Amino acid sequence: MTLPVPPTQKATILSTPGDPSALLYHPAHPIPQPAPGQVLVKNAVAGINYIDTYFRTGLYPGQTPTILGREAAGVVVALGPPAEQDQDQDQYHGLRVGDRVIWLANGGYAEYSAVPAGMAVRLPDGLAFADAAAAFMSGLTALALTRETYRVRAGDWVLLHAAAGGVGFLMTQVLKKAGARVIATAGGREKVEVVEGLGADCVIDYRGGEGKGWVERVMEITGGEGVDVVYDSVGKDTWEGSLEAVKRKGTVVWFGNSSGPVPPLPLNRLSPKCVKIARPTLFGYIATRQEFEGYAHALFELLTSGALKVKIHGMYSLEDVPKAHVDLESRKTMGKLLIRFD
Ligand code: NDP
Repeated sequence: MTLPVPPTQKATILSTPGDPSALLYHPAHPIPQPAPGQVLVKNAVAGINYIDTYFRTGLYPGQTPTILGREAAGVVVALGPPAEQDQDQDQYHGLRVGDRVIWLANGGYAEYSAVPAGMAVRLPDGLAFADAAAAFMSGLTALALTRETYRVRAGDWVLLHAAAGGVGFLMTQVLKKAGARVIATAGGREKVEVVEGLGADCVIDYRGGEGKGWVERVMEITGGEGVDVVYDSVGKDTWEGSLEAVKRKGTVVWFGNSSGPVPPLPLNRLSPKCVKIARPTLFGYIATRQEFEGYAHALFELLTSGALKVKIHGMYSLEDVPKAHVDLESRKTMGKLLIRFD
């Protein structure tokens, strides 16, 4: 069974790496055919993530022209053909036409995406597409980094940068639920207030609002010791400070480049404080179906029980995706940016 699919779709295409103006709206783009093992999803809401800007600029290499966007929530409208081999395995992981799903793959800036069935998961009934898309990639990242990259324990001092962002907003809540003592950074008074509202123990305006360096503040708060772990997705601008703010035998988790990549690090920089460095990617923690479903279901439980709140900065149309990239890169946003398809 398939659901009706029109001949063409609306999509936003990256023509060639560049600034946001390289993202071009196409009103009549071909709809992909799902290959064996793929499902075709009619997207309802797609997420815009900072990683999309890395692919747009070419910081992360990729082919062009292409459709960016690594996640969306919607309805399965077709399954690919059955594979000739492995007939006994359910290559569609129990997904059926008509299922409400969320997926992590490529090509979310379009009305329809053909994605591997292994990277799509059925949504619980009560979870709205927008809430799911606002939380999926960001929330899985928050869970994997706090459960596996460094296992956060009650009482740990944790420094989290960009805490009002898409990942940061969710990670602050995950850290507090784990019993951590959270020192958060955010740029500007409004963002600071939002993160304070999430229960962070101390929120520092690292754009200088307090007249003191944020590293100095972290050391003051922790009685001169520093923090057990730093979660740093800002990269270039915060990296040196993060190494200073971590305590002896502590861990620095570098997981993003919002201000640019960190410079090469001579390993002997780590010796004086016996510091550990991690450079994780979410996809390394959800490589098997079991891992993917395990994290997805853990996140759904947090969302449907109301234990985790989402924050949607704004809903953009496909035509407005270039503006969304400008907003994200100019540090104007709080929480998640989404694309809605009407
Ligand atoms: P955010 O919503 O967090 O946006 C980025 C934020 O970074 C900005 O709002 C801003 O917050 C802060 N920032 C600091 N310096 C700059 C700068 N020079 N330019 C732009 N922003 C700056 O984005 P996401 O939630 O989508 O992603 C957060 C980070 O997590 C990204 O670095 C992303 O790559 C990373 N990530 C990594 C994953 C992984 O698997 N490794 C998975 C998912 C996300 P403020 O104004 O408060 O400083």
